[in-house]
Amino acid sequence: MSECIFCRIAAGRAAARIVLEDEAAVVFHDLHPQAPVHLLVIPRRHVVSVAEGTTEDRELFGHLLLLAARAARLTGVADSGFRIVTNCGANAGQSVFHLHLHVLGGRAMRWPPG
Ligand code: AMP
Repeated sequence: MSECIFCRIAAGRAAARIVLEDEAAVVFHDLHPQAPVHLLVIPRRHVVSVAEGTTEDRELFGHLLLLAARAARLTGVADSGFRIVTNCGANAGQSVFHLHLHVLGGRAMRWPPG
């Protein structure tokens, strides 16, 4: 089976427009942006989704949220507001099965989401 695309990005084996990274996570621009700013925050470690998280992932999951907020500040959407979304499973429309937080900003968002 071919390696997960987000594992490849995290390992530097696939191209991505990286915004920031550290030992545990990488933030990069989504290939098909749905807002003026659309970032993805991923753990370097392969986790399928938050649904698979355990108490051992508590620190990592908190870290991803803090990185999302930091990336929103870095890309200039923090003051106007932004949305963090993570899709889990089929009904939510998850298409890449490596945990990622979408960070969307730069335009007004509607609620409820479609
Ligand atoms: P989801 O549908 O929640 O699983 O989101 C997956 C997201 O990954 C989509 O918004 C895709 O546009 C994005 N995506 C897929 N492959 C890449 C890639 N190689 N680089 C950047 N974004 C990607």
